[in-house]
Amino acid sequence: MAIRNVREIGEPVLNKRCKEVTEVTERTLELIDDMFETMYETNGVGLAAPQVGILKRIVVIDVTGEDPILLINPVIMETSGEQTGNEGCLSVPGKAGVVTRPYYVKVKAYDENLEPFEIEGTELLARAFCHEIDHLDGHLYVEKVEGELFDVEAEEEE
Ligand code: ZN
Repeated sequence: MAIRNVREIGEPVLNKRCKEVTEVTERTLELIDDMFETMYETNGVGLAAPQVGILKRIVVIDVTGEDPILLINPVIMETSGEQTGNEGCLSVPGKAGVVTRPYYVKVKAYDENLEPFEIEGTELLARAFCHEIDHLDGHLYVEKVEGELFDVEAEEEE
């Protein structure tokens, strides 16, 4: 495993649509391991492949530090409610902003064997699903911020 370089806002790779994963190779598994390691090392709660420069529809999330979630080709199936709160991103270091997201999100995705599954989340997990899946379509949370970005300690970023 290895820590990968996290791309920052302004780099074109963050604004591109990522490609569907059609096979999971050794290289894909290595990428997934590296994404988890990079996320934990940087104290993030989520990381999308384009953030490490790879245009594939792969996301890793762990909002508790004990519940790693891998999403390949994730699609949001259902949302409900609303939550408004602070959001940050490893690709926008030292900043946060207020974003409104659904309170509840249901996602369909594939695991490392390309077996489909569904997963639901509320609160921070629902926010992370939306934030990370946006990355796969080339969108950063800063496009959705209400008001201005503000400075934060680099602790709990996504
Ligand atoms: Zn992000």
